[in-house]
This record gives sequence, C-alpha cells and structure tokens, in this order.
Amino acid sequence: MNYIARQKRMEAAVQDKGLDALLVTHLPNLRYLSGFTGSAGLLVVGSKRPMFFTDGRYAEQARDEVQRARVVVAKHTVIDTAVEWLLDNDLRTMGIESDHMTVAVRAQLAKKLRGKVRLSDTSGWVERERMIKDADELALIRRAVNLGAGLLDVAIDTIRPGATEVEVAAQLEYEARKRGAEGMSFETIVAAGERSALPHGRATPTAIPERGFVVLDFGVILAGYCSDMTRTVRVGKMSEADEKLYNSVRQAQQAATEAVRAGIATGDVDAAARKVLTHAGFGKYFSHSTGHGVGLEIHEAPRLGRGQTESLRPGMVVTIEPGAYIPGRGGVRIEDMVVVTPDGCEVLTPATKELIQL
Ligand code: ZN
Ligand code: ZN
Repeated sequence: MNYIARQKRMEAAVQDKGLDALLVTHLPNLRYLSGFTGSAGLLVVGSKRPMFFTDGRYAEQARDEVQRARVVVAKHTVIDTAVEWLLDNDLRTMGIESDHMTVAVRAQLAKKLRGKVRLSDTSGWVERERMIKDADELALIRRAVNLGAGLLDVAIDTIRPGATEVEVAAQLEYEARKRGAEGMSFETIVAAGERSALPHGRATPTAIPERGFVVLDFGVILAGYCSDMTRTVRVGKMSEADEKLYNSVRQAQQAATEAVRAGIATGDVDAAARKVLTHAGFGKYFSHSTGHGVGLEIHEAPRLGRGQTESLRPGMVVTIEPGAYIPGRGGVRIEDMVVVTPDGCEVLTPATKELIQL
C-alpha cells in the first residue's frame, strides 16, 4: 500500500482548504492513511510530518505498522498528548472528521485547546480518496470476494426444510473463519420463506419452511477488506408468479450491471435496475437503493441510489443489489460486487445467478 502517497494527497487537501492540519479519528481512515490496524489512535496530517498518537497497549503495534508518521505513545490519555503537541507546535486551525466525532469529544477537545486551535468541521475528505481503489487494494478485495463466494456452497449444503436460519448462518460463519476470514463484514442475513420479504432479515431461530425463497446475504473481512454478496435460493416447488419475481430481479441486476461505466451518474445505475422492476410490476417492492461502495468498510461511498449525482470512476468498487420484497409472500435479492472500468465494469463475484432449487 502506498501510504506515503495517500498522506501527501491529504496534506495537499489540508493546504488547499487553508487549514494547518486534519485530525483523523475514524479508524478505517486511520488505517487507510497510516497502516495502523489497532483500535485506538489519532493521526494529525498537515504541513509538517504526520503525527500518530496512541496509548501503551498499541505502542509496539503502532511502531510496527504506522508508515511515515512519527509515533507518540501517550503517557496519560491519547487526546491530552495530542493536545499538548498541537499547542507546542502553534497550530491555529485544524479540521476534524465531523461525521465521526461525537459532540462530547468535540467539546472536550475544544476546551482543552483553550481557543488556541480553531476546530473546523470537515466531511468525507478521506472517504473521497478511499472511493478509488488502487491495485493493491483491488488484489485484497478480490481475495475477500473469492473467499466469501466460496461460502455459498456451505450455506446451500445446510439449507433444508426444518433447519433454522441461525444453523445456516453458523455453518457459513464457522467455515469462513476456518478458511481464514478475520470476521464477517456484517451480521449474516438468512431470511427464509415469508421472512425473505424483509430486506435485512438477520438469521433467527426460525425454521426454513417446505416452500419459499431463502435470501442469503453475507460477507467476510480479509486483510481488512470486506466482501458482500447476496444470492436467493429456492426451497420446494415454485409458482409461476415466484418464478417471474426471481427472473425480474435477475434482469434488473443484469441491467444495472450493464449500465455501470466510468462517467455515469450513480443514480442512473439505480434507475436502470428500477426501470426493469417497475416494468415487471415490482417497482413498489424495490424498497432500497441499488448499491454502495465496499472497501475497508462494508458500506462506504459512493451510494447508488435514486437521484444520486456522483459519477462513477475507474477503480470504484460497488455492489449491484436490486431486490423485490412482497409482504406475506417473500422476496428476492441478487448482489454482486463490481469494479468500475473506463468502459464498463468487471464483475468480481464468481457465483452463478441461475436460480438454485433445493
Ligand atoms: Zn449484501
Ligand atoms: Zn450490500
């Protein structure tokens, strides 16, 4: 990972906005800029050499992982040590990540700085950089996606009428860990029968019925990067109406994937999926947006939703995941991760979208 280039881009952004520094507190942003994978740290990036503050628990890890920045281990609290440094170095204005800092911490920080350093709210500075994945990141994302996709068969082997949703999730998660995942990127969704109509139906002790859809939405974290995929499988006989529902979602997913290319507005990708579902009569059952960025976090910029104007750029990694959910009957969602290329996209998720019937 080219941490130095990332830090230099942030330094340029800080100077551009007329600030002396940016205080980075959001852990995924810290990791992105410095390489630190621990859970307590602060990074000050600005005109001088970046400074990284952490506590005694992470002294060794920070010295090992943090790139370019000077590592300072706090004797008391991390915030007090950082404040001391800021005051000693005559900083006047400092950006804070207002999307991530609590009101209480902001007030505490302002009080400790005694008006000598003016705090300025910033939003999404590092997140904007993180939207475009470099070659190193893409390699890690591919590994996570492949590990994740390999778990679909594990889930399918476990699914049968009478098995509970949590049993399916447990097998899938156990196998994920055995295969090297650091964890799951979010709580595994296994939603069977009528529960498949819940777009975020986390696995419950409910038994899988004799007939119905089972929505499986899951992802793993590997080397810090998340995967995210959804497949909907079928248990028992299927009505023509359910077949139409599945095929319509599949066509919507295909249409949105085909719409992806550099320069297109994210809202237009969403519209491509929505158009297919609306035409099939399922428009009102597509109750969420078409996709989201994925990387160090499971949900990151950009968002592919109705009316969104952000343009896709090469190197963005996003999900394409339309769905339709009919209360009392069931739902279908199909989700892949894709990487945007200059004239289209590459689908990263290597799993069939043919309906699997069990
Ligand atoms: Zn998902
Ligand atoms: Zn997703």
